[in-house]
Amino acid sequence: MYDLIIIGMGISGISASIYAKRANLKVLLLEGSTPGGTINKISKIDNYPGNFNISGPDLAYNLFNEVNKMEIEYKLEKVTDILLDKVKIVKTTNNVYETKNILIASGRYPKMLGLENEEKLLGKGISTCALCDGIFYKNKEIAVVGGGSSALSEALYLANIASKVYLIHRREEFRGEKELIKKVKEKDNIKLILNDEVIKLDIKNDTLKGITLKSGKTLNIQGLFIYIGFIPNTDFLKNTNIKMEDGYILVDNHQKTNINGVYASGDVTKKDIYQIVSAASEGAEAVIYMNQLDCSNT
Ligand code: NAP
Repeated sequence: MYDLIIIGMGISGISASIYAKRANLKVLLLEGSTPGGTINKISKIDNYPGNFNISGPDLAYNLFNEVNKMEIEYKLEKVTDILLDKVKIVKTTNNVYETKNILIASGRYPKMLGLENEEKLLGKGISTCALCDGIFYKNKEIAVVGGGSSALSEALYLANIASKVYLIHRREEFRGEKELIKKVKEKDNIKLILNDEVIKLDIKNDTLKGITLKSGKTLNIQGLFIYIGFIPNTDFLKNTNIKMEDGYILVDNHQKTNINGVYASGDVTKKDIYQIVSAASEGAEAVIYMNQLDCSNT
């Protein structure tokens, strides 16, 4: 029986595991995909203290290294179901585990436009990761969709590789950080297309050859990068009564859900600020609070 099972090895889950290990808890980290989570897809991080200008994969590597150095137990197994009773059960693709407490730090995955052939073109002209796929579009014309910080920062990254980047946003105003908006506007090879939307993907030989916009405009681009927000990873909570809003888990100011012994932190929770630094601190806070509660109960 574990004291704590943490679902997700993004920065929030790893930060929580460090605090749990230091508190001498029997802790297990579970990850269904890549340790580091969303960070792996960020080209450059300028706002995580002590790591100025670090690449996302480098930060993810450092985090994973820390897990290994601290001998924190982890398993690369996807969680499929959890059952919540006095003893909590976590089922994965490979195993069934028992635990006293659970921290859900499963993050979220990129939202897609919902256009015909979009999924089929992933890796063939459509991408949700500039860092992974940007280099395939060296000196080519591409487009980025979205108006948040992700679209802005990744458009800037791509503009250093591609010959031209169209940044397509459905409104006049961007919702991303002011500093990023300023940089995007100053970049010579980024062309803004505002108040417009992609409505059709044009294909040739199973590869993206261009896009059609709502305004009727067509663009002969070879790459389309989609940054229009995220959907939280909560499918495995289907057999629980954990309270959610818009798919995001509701927590109190100690990261506690409505179920005793179940906490959530990072991007999977409903909140105002989705930043690397806050995800890390929420994971730590959840464990500190959980441990204080457990100590006061004994
Ligand atoms: P976001 O802030 O939710 O922005 C999503 C954008 O996509 C919005 O501009 C939205 O348009 C647009 N959009 C949504 N659905 C669309 C659709 N179907 N068609 C066309 N456009 C659509 O998401 P994000 O940019 O990924 O950022 C997520 C969080 O991470 C934010 O809190 C952000 O601050 C943080 N972040 C920070 C940094 C950083 O460098 N500090 C970098 C990346 C992300 P509307 O504006 O019209 O709704």
